[in-house]
Amino acid sequence: MGAMEKTGKDVRAGAVCGAPRTGWDLHCHTVFSDGKASPAQMLGQARALPDLTGVAITDHDSTAGWPQAQQAARATGVPLVRGAEITSDWKNRTSVHLLAWLFDPSEPTLAGLFARTRAERVERTRRMVEAISHDYPITWEDVLAQAGTAGLTTIGRPHIADALVAAGVVRTRSEAFATIVSGSSKYYLPVRSPEVTEVIAAVKAAGGVIGIAHAASPTRNAVILTDDDIAFFASRGLDALEVWHRENTAEGRARLLRLADRLGLLVTGGSDWHGTDGKPNRLGENLTADDVVEQIEERGAIAIVR
Ligand code: AMP
Ligand code: ZN
Ligand code: FE
Ligand code: FE
Repeated sequence: MGAMEKTGKDVRAGAVCGAPRTGWDLHCHTVFSDGKASPAQMLGQARALPDLTGVAITDHDSTAGWPQAQQAARATGVPLVRGAEITSDWKNRTSVHLLAWLFDPSEPTLAGLFARTRAERVERTRRMVEAISHDYPITWEDVLAQAGTAGLTTIGRPHIADALVAAGVVRTRSEAFATIVSGSSKYYLPVRSPEVTEVIAAVKAAGGVIGIAHAASPTRNAVILTDDDIAFFASRGLDALEVWHRENTAEGRARLLRLADRLGLLVTGGSDWHGTDGKPNRLGENLTADDVVEQIEERGAIAIVR
């Protein structure tokens, strides 16, 4: 079966080639990382979108939002996939974001890996703030004050951006990402994180399903993963590629679709939603086909909350 058949039932003219028009948004952030909305607000908004079958909570390097999201899924009747977006590194060349779904959150290796990355994120973000504070009027306390759920939120550059907005230095989060906190800014520091292969092994040990997020985004990746890189990850147990993401280029999507077909990987889509004022991305703007989510559930260690 070809990748297009796997992902797209859509034959309407004008649709992005093969992108599902109904299905699941498998890539969403809440206040438990750098999103602006609570899990309850996310599920509430999802309920109002008729083309959306369900959503996934995929906060950065954390499962802390799962209990609230589960409660909200039951209250709204919107099905929920529990997951996370995991920061990893490939050969010290580029940061790779991995989406993991339906894993056992109590599995010690994976839980330890999350704790380690969050500690690294605090340290790195604190050092960036220290350097920025020499030139702009923000403190580490100002940045912590922007993190939604004290102590439970995965800290990152978006919280520095929010502190810069609050101090009147820039107008929006996106303006900060285009300047002071951008990847090419003199203040930028990478997050030290585990190798892709280590994360795949940990997620597999926890019974989860794992894909590469926005693999064909030139802004999100310092170096674009090659076909050989992705084939190697597939040999280590990678399940999926996020093809339908606003930052993947058209040629990149075509390449990922061909690769998914050749390597037998699932094709997913997600909005990378960060709340209405967190990022321009709209909830449900990119979707994963229902039958793909069925396969993800078959492979996963825990059930979809319905
Ligand atoms: P960090 O992980 O700390 O390096 O911060 C980068 C993260 O910020 C990415 O995962 C983005 O999804 C997120 N982010 C949130 N808002 C924005 C924005 N307006 N522009 C770019 N990235 C953003
Ligand atoms: Zn984010
Ligand atoms: Fe990401
Ligand atoms: Fe994301």
